[in-house]
Amino acid sequence: MTETSFRIVILGGGTAGWMSAAALARFVPPGYSITLIESDAIGTVGVGEATIPPIRLFNEALGIDEADFLRETSASYKLGIEFAGWLRDGHSYMHAFGAVGRQHGLLPFRHYWARASAVGIARPLGHYNANEIAARTGRMATGVSGPGVPEVPWAYHFDAGLYAAFLRRHAEAMGVVRHEGKVACVVRGDNGDIAAVETDDGRSFEGDFFIDCTGFRGLLIEEALETGYEDWSHWLPCDRAVAAPCSAAGPFTPYTRSIARKAGWQWRIPLQHRIGNGLVYCSEYLSDEGAAATLTENLEAPAPADPRVLRFVTGRRRKTWNRNVLAVGLSGGFMEPLESTSIHLIQSTITRFLTVLPSGPANDAVRDGFNRRCAEEFERIRDFLILHYKTNQRVSEPFWDHCRTMPVPDSLEARIAEYREACHIQPGADELFTEVAWFQVLAGQGVVPKRWNPIANRLSPDELGGFLGAVEKACIETVRPMPLHMDFLAARCATR
Ligand code: FAD
Repeated sequence: MTETSFRIVILGGGTAGWMSAAALARFVPPGYSITLIESDAIGTVGVGEATIPPIRLFNEALGIDEADFLRETSASYKLGIEFAGWLRDGHSYMHAFGAVGRQHGLLPFRHYWARASAVGIARPLGHYNANEIAARTGRMATGVSGPGVPEVPWAYHFDAGLYAAFLRRHAEAMGVVRHEGKVACVVRGDNGDIAAVETDDGRSFEGDFFIDCTGFRGLLIEEALETGYEDWSHWLPCDRAVAAPCSAAGPFTPYTRSIARKAGWQWRIPLQHRIGNGLVYCSEYLSDEGAAATLTENLEAPAPADPRVLRFVTGRRRKTWNRNVLAVGLSGGFMEPLESTSIHLIQSTITRFLTVLPSGPANDAVRDGFNRRCAEEFERIRDFLILHYKTNQRVSEPFWDHCRTMPVPDSLEARIAEYREACHIQPGADELFTEVAWFQVLAGQGVVPKRWNPIANRLSPDELGGFLGAVEKACIETVRPMPLHMDFLAARCATR
């Protein structure tokens, strides 16, 4: 047996704590020990249900069987997010996963669509996306593709509490040792690093490295190390959420809904055993009572419990990794769940950490590079979220007027200008949200490019119409054989 020489202590057992524990247990070599301390008395945030496709890579890497996962987390499939009322009341569009249209010659589809829109022969973008057609007709299957249509990608809605419990079983089976207890004291070593944490019943846990998964408070990264927080509420002014699950009133949709409301937006996330609902809002424009009333008035079935208010400050910890502490989950920062990115940020932070896994005191250059990449990832997601608000046309509603007229980061300003000017979108190669994601939101939010690439003019109007028609037909044909979501899910859950 190898003697343990590097002790990793994870503090916190929410989604972040158990995702970290399971991933580390799966990948660290012999010689590492992994301990997790959590306090049932403190509990977890208890919301967080919608994800994006990379979650599948995480589950696969852990060796999780999809049917087990679906059963144990009460999950459903997710093909995208519908944004209702974000441009204006009565309007809706989708950010659906998967390809939109297809490239023609050298050019991405958006140039042809822009030209076709200008001459009045384009249909809404969702007609050229198999995911959106499947989502809107309530269909779902995995492993489906069609002529010119790559595989229909998917993610999940799931109960984050059940997911944490599911991963706990995996992690413990792989050797993670869990301790129940409330950490009351943090002990610093001579060099300023964290040396140990102590629970209120006097137990001490020494470690070489600590992963702070204590949620918004950031017990190690902030309360002990005072790392600092970059506040982005001037760009994303919503600062509260009220949540109230209810039962389903009908077949559940294989997509998340985000519905714009007076001073924020409401989510609807269908799970097998309930519908997750919540309202994200800005307290400057709406009281907690007003938010709770707006939410309960707009539920499809009565909520069994009173709505629960959560407060947050949008932004990120100045350093994700400070000294010998890594902040994962809410302790590392928070952005509203508009594009379902928080659980993904847990996944990417822990995956990135594994790529530079320390075995002794950290090297500054490695830590700085790591922090830079984490910062970039947060900032790019931030810009994508702001885009939804900035481009709204909900005129004469004070909150939305504010969002439309507020200054935005230069990086976003430049992106919107490039698209508006020349239909140009070029995210970096490692950006989470691809050109197709940006295109759907820009187009959905009514941003119209002045020009497109003139190469798109080589097609005659008839050829252009024929091309769009063929793309739409291929998407419809791809979706046609897919079963209904509920039937497909039930069959998957029954698989042993
Ligand atoms: P928490 O759930 O707060 O867990 C903290 C842990 O630390 C607990 O185990 C607690 O016991 C422990 N702890 C704290 N202090 C101590 C102590 N002193 N001693 C011992 N243990 C301690 N994400 C998505 O991806 N999709 C979504 O749709 C989504 N929706 C969201 C909606 C809202 C309104 C909010 C607020 C978040 C949402 N999220 C979503 C984010 C998601 O909920 C979180 O990212 C995720 O649950 C991770 O939380 P966490 O584990 O970091 O923190």
